[in-house]
Amino acid sequence: MALIVQKYGGTSVGSTARIKAVAQRIKKTLAGENQVVVVVSAMGKTTDGLVKLAQEISSNPSRREMDMLLSTGEQVSIALLSMALQESGQAAISLTGAQVGIVTEAHHSRARILNIKTERIERHLSQGKVVVVAGFQGITNFDDFEITTLGRGGSDTSAVALAAALKAARCEIYTDVPGILTTDPRIVPEARLMSEVTCDEMLELASLGAKVLHPRAVEIARNYGVPLLVLSSWSEEPGTLVISPLPQPRAIAGLEIVRAVDAVEFDTDQAKVALLRVPDRPGIAARLFGEIALQNVDVDLIIQSIHEGNSNDIAFTVIEKVLNKAEAVAEAIAPVLRSHPAKTEEAEVAIERKIAKIAIAGAGMIGRPGIAAKMFATLAEAGVNIEMISTSEVKVSCVIDAADGKKAIAALCQAFEIDSSPVKQPSALPNSQPLPPVRGVALDLNQARLAIRHVRDLPGMAAKIFSVLAENNISVDMIIQSQRCRIINNIASRDIAFTVAQADAKIAQTVLQQLAKEIHCGEVLLDTEIAKVSVVGAGMMGQPGVAAKMFAALSAKAINIQMITTSEIKISCVVAESEGVTALQVIHEAFELAGKEKIEVPA
Ligand code: ADP
Ligand code: ASP
Ligand code: MG
Repeated sequence: MALIVQKYGGTSVGSTARIKAVAQRIKKTLAGENQVVVVVSAMGKTTDGLVKLAQEISSNPSRREMDMLLSTGEQVSIALLSMALQESGQAAISLTGAQVGIVTEAHHSRARILNIKTERIERHLSQGKVVVVAGFQGITNFDDFEITTLGRGGSDTSAVALAAALKAARCEIYTDVPGILTTDPRIVPEARLMSEVTCDEMLELASLGAKVLHPRAVEIARNYGVPLLVLSSWSEEPGTLVISPLPQPRAIAGLEIVRAVDAVEFDTDQAKVALLRVPDRPGIAARLFGEIALQNVDVDLIIQSIHEGNSNDIAFTVIEKVLNKAEAVAEAIAPVLRSHPAKTEEAEVAIERKIAKIAIAGAGMIGRPGIAAKMFATLAEAGVNIEMISTSEVKVSCVIDAADGKKAIAALCQAFEIDSSPVKQPSALPNSQPLPPVRGVALDLNQARLAIRHVRDLPGMAAKIFSVLAENNISVDMIIQSQRCRIINNIASRDIAFTVAQADAKIAQTVLQQLAKEIHCGEVLLDTEIAKVSVVGAGMMGQPGVAAKMFAALSAKAINIQMITTSEIKISCVVAESEGVTALQVIHEAFELAGKEKIEVPA
């Protein structure tokens, strides 16, 4: 006998006919021996409809009342599914988050789960019932039962959290596509089904725009080692297995607020190559990294900052051993760029040998804007200047002077209470096939770009900027500090650019304009018309040429790259919003990710 948690998303329970079909699927899973706990979303587009109703009354409704409203959607579907099961002769009971005892933080509309009581569910299971739980909701405590919701798409998180708390054999997420695909089939119908994906890869994909799974659900699966499957509620296909590292025993209390940072990683074997003042036009990054790939040189971090005037800076790190080769390529390319008619100033190569890369990593930093700020503040307090910043949703990497390495590690380990080395992620699949360099691609059209000009080149400036954003609860992604140091009146300054969710963009700009006056920075620029396109694959580490191929695909369509950031397992580019969809399509094609058949998404 196994305990299985199944989650059915909105389209899967979009009509009473669908609800009846889901009841049949659940009965099949029971097969006379298994126990099933079901988590459901609101029917179809119910939650969107409720949001619309609220907007008709208020442009800024109270978050508490929004939770009260939105949590009703799931209450309808649990009752109907429970009735459908009973009607088919299967004992069942529906329970709201409060009735189960899903306790969350007191943050309305984006609460994290703190604890889950399992007694009531277990009692009903032992009586042979299927327990149908409302996804996406919880309560703050057992005194005032304030209803909270987990954020849009949060039913996935409810399901995986329940699976962890109940120590279920597995968690199955049923949705409207056959599983996790190489990209969104609504944009690229030729997307191919993945038979498996690692948690780390899925975390990146989910937070970069692949909404098939809520990133926090992946985080919980990873932390608790919950076997997770994503599959279609329309077919019998096997779906996608999300592979977790070996589970570490962990208490359920503090479920989603366990340590934000799992590891401090450090690498001294690094050198930096920067190309300053290259023309801002399509094809430059493709050309540079194409040549580098031809030399079989593996680049690690790549960043390209926003342009000033009409030139860009591109910087990347390589292991020291191959620096000479990388430098030779950059030197050979610089004069070619200089001779281009679009040049404004002279392109120039800058090399730095004595650098170190220091990173904090952990899935718990998703949606916690204070973590990057805390890293920058910690480094500033230790007197360490940050030369380059590169981020992903689960990692913040900084390039610093190698001489500062020891004190930087000590300070970060103390600040984040880390004393051990990180959990090693699998480098190959269980069937011992190497991981593919690119597993999937994602497009995020909901980001905006902010840039602050002339930030003084002193320790503590990044900390100030990102602390202010964190205080306003604004999560930041893709932070890039420009390579070029401007010196005016003996004061050195750099630009810092980053992306935030569009919904946060205006307020971010307002609070930063205020701060810019206090810390004597220049203008704060905002561009909401951007798209972020990313490739993800754990196999790209140590595989030269992945970045070059991505940039070449964009260049072939004359798509200009405005910003680049990378982590070990992903590369993200910001392009104009109007070019986002084409960018996704050409990159998907370049990596030959298309399947044989087109995916049809049920309406
Ligand atoms: P549910 O209501 O079942 O939770 P969602 O709409 O939240 O379903 O998520 C499923 C949708 O995610 C799919 O219909 C698809 O359009 C979209 N999607 C985006 N990226 C991917 C991807 N890489 N693989 C599969 N689906 C994706
Ligand atoms: N019904 C909620 C939403 O639409 C939760 C979910 O479907 O996961 O966001
Ligand atoms: Mg969903």
